[in-house]
Amino acid sequence: MDRRRFLSYLALATPAVGAAQRISAVRPPQAARVEKYTAGSTPRLVLNHLGFLPRGRKVLIVRAPASSDASGCNLRDIGQFSKPILLRPEKVISDFGDCLVANFDSLEKEGLYQITLGEEGSVPFFVRPDVWRRTLPKGVDYFKFQRCGMEVPNFHSACHSDDARRRDTGEHLDVTGGWHDAGDLRKPMYSTMQIGIGLLQLARNLGENWDHAGSGLARLHEEVRWGNRYFLKMQDSDGLIWRDTACDDAGQNDNHWTDNRVGSSDDRYIDVRKPAQTSAIFVVLQAMVASAFRKSDPPYAERCLAAAMRCWNACTRAGDLYDMSWWALAGLELYRTTRRAEYGNAARSLGTELVSLQNRSFIGSQRIIRGFWYTSRADSTPATHWGFAALPLLVLLELSEVFSDHPDAGRWRDAVRLHLDEYVVPMTSRCAYRIVPFGVFTGSPTPEHYRPLAGELTYRYFMPVRKEFWWVGLSSHLEGYAVALALAARVFTQNGYRDLAYRQLEWIMGANPFGACLMTGEGLRNPYPYSRFVGQIPGGIINGIGGNTQDEPVLDTERVLDWRTGEYWSPHNAFYIWAVSLLEAPARSEAGIALLSGSHTNQT
Ligand SMILES: [Zn+2]
Repeated sequence: MDRRRFLSYLALATPAVGAAQRISAVRPPQAARVEKYTAGSTPRLVLNHLGFLPRGRKVLIVRAPASSDASGCNLRDIGQFSKPILLRPEKVISDFGDCLVANFDSLEKEGLYQITLGEEGSVPFFVRPDVWRRTLPKGVDYFKFQRCGMEVPNFHSACHSDDARRRDTGEHLDVTGGWHDAGDLRKPMYSTMQIGIGLLQLARNLGENWDHAGSGLARLHEEVRWGNRYFLKMQDSDGLIWRDTACDDAGQNDNHWTDNRVGSSDDRYIDVRKPAQTSAIFVVLQAMVASAFRKSDPPYAERCLAAAMRCWNACTRAGDLYDMSWWALAGLELYRTTRRAEYGNAARSLGTELVSLQNRSFIGSQRIIRGFWYTSRADSTPATHWGFAALPLLVLLELSEVFSDHPDAGRWRDAVRLHLDEYVVPMTSRCAYRIVPFGVFTGSPTPEHYRPLAGELTYRYFMPVRKEFWWVGLSSHLEGYAVALALAARVFTQNGYRDLAYRQLEWIMGANPFGACLMTGEGLRNPYPYSRFVGQIPGGIINGIGGNTQDEPVLDTERVLDWRTGEYWSPHNAFYIWAVSLLEAPARSEAGIALLSGSHTNQT
């Protein structure tokens, strides 16, 4: 679901635009129907639909409060018919409208609860130790239902066994397998490879017992292996990685079921362009696969490692903040797998580059925030990204764990602290939901509302919608920050970061102005997903809440099949299982990393 592919969705509603135009130019912005779907006056009671950990933070938000609401809400255990507990929410000045907030952290007794205020009842929610853990199998099974190249019983018959032909020469190559990426049937590399990374992070963090039902590591490894058959086939002879199968920049022509016969007219195409970031993500994944399969299948592990090294050697490893972040992770994962100094040196050097791109002084005539990142050496615009904004943070945290004794480790940790304490904490404090905004800006770079911060600096919670045609809801952005915050909590032994990580995930699970859970099969008020071929998929997470020109939250609650907010997408599920697994087992996974790096000291 990258931006060029999204451009092709437009073909559904408007006259087609030539491929060259789509590729060479950013399509101008266009008002989207979903922009008017702001949150209504109900529900007024919003909280995480999953519930809360017995010893975790527990927050209820009362939207659009009446003056009488502060007198209290009733909290009761609906399985015990016991006397209700009175909560007294307090007024909070917040973006998205002032509200009341009640903390009920002291409620540690396990049970199924509900909060009522007047006539309204909240979504019933659990207090139990596995509120998050029990969602992991669902988040993982989503990928199985998105498999391409086989029959998925109850979802779709065997598909796309005729993938695909080269766009440039027409030659047929076997690139069957992989996963459908989103609410469509396409197979871009850079986003579907994140599925493999998410699954292996889950395996790394929680090990054999990740699923309380006992499916074990075999389940995760089988899924990774399924997708990786396709990924390995997408490596060109020069070591670089082709961009996608069936994304079809020219329109909707490849987004269809096929007759599964090679050579017929409905065969789909391989886009043989080779973007650098796709190669970087490939190296990260293959190095992780090599490590995961080293004992169970050494020849396979060797094959994946060889593929990773060929790709690494074929690349120059330059680019913007996010390219360099992926390359740093690639070096780090190769180092973890091989222990070769060259990869460790490269990862550290890229980490130093990332630090050099950090804003360290107060700019824009204000002294409220600093520590964000610039886009690149050549571009001092504050960096923003739909899903990778927390990646530099994650890289520096991982470097500081793996190379904890290195002279630069202190600088990496300082950069992380600067970003968290002087950017993330003050920015998330402006809103009762505590979500990390999309980014900061200087002034108003596009013709729409940018929230004043101080001095010349402004911010938006959501992507600008008058910058270009492509924008989406920010589930991955928040989940990515949840990953980084969870890791920061472990590195710095700070529960505050951990609490903030959960708040990002709680937004996904219903603690948002719509009171809508964004994972199918959990919670309530789930928008019907933009999933045009197989409908609802249990465990699938949608793009989620975006903004309009006023930066108000918007979500397709009217079933207009809005892809910007309603579409499933691989990165959302990948970041989700990564974040939850980190939050579930910090101590154990750290020990695992120490074992891998051979140079780590315990910090928790
Ligand atoms: Zn398929």
